[in-house]
Amino acid sequence: MAQKQHTRRSSAAPSSERGEQAMIEGILEGSPDAVGVAVVRLDCGCRKMAAISPSGDPASKIIMYRDNAQSICDQCKDDHGDFRRVVKQFISWKKPEPDQATMALISAKVLGC
Ligand SMILES: [Zn+2]
Repeated sequence: MAQKQHTRRSSAAPSSERGEQAMIEGILEGSPDAVGVAVVRLDCGCRKMAAISPSGDPASKIIMYRDNAQSICDQCKDDHGDFRRVVKQFISWKKPEPDQATMALISAKVLGC
């Protein structure tokens, strides 16, 4: 497989946040009906993401990625990002955001809280 170098640099923002935002935008582009993207950050630095439909169901397959890496880490390959290693999870809403009640409903369904 061809090796691709990603060496774009900027001092504007931490690269991990920028990478995450780029992934979110890419997922939304691929799932035009989605209302947002569920983001799960794991303690190892890898992330799980999936587009969310207006009814709170997955609107894409779950994507796992790791910043500045060709693949996710060995631990994630092993446990697929076990729930116990989640450090943060949230939904990045697509603009315009749904109303508060809808957001709360979808959050409860997707994140269980
Ligand atoms: Zn990992």
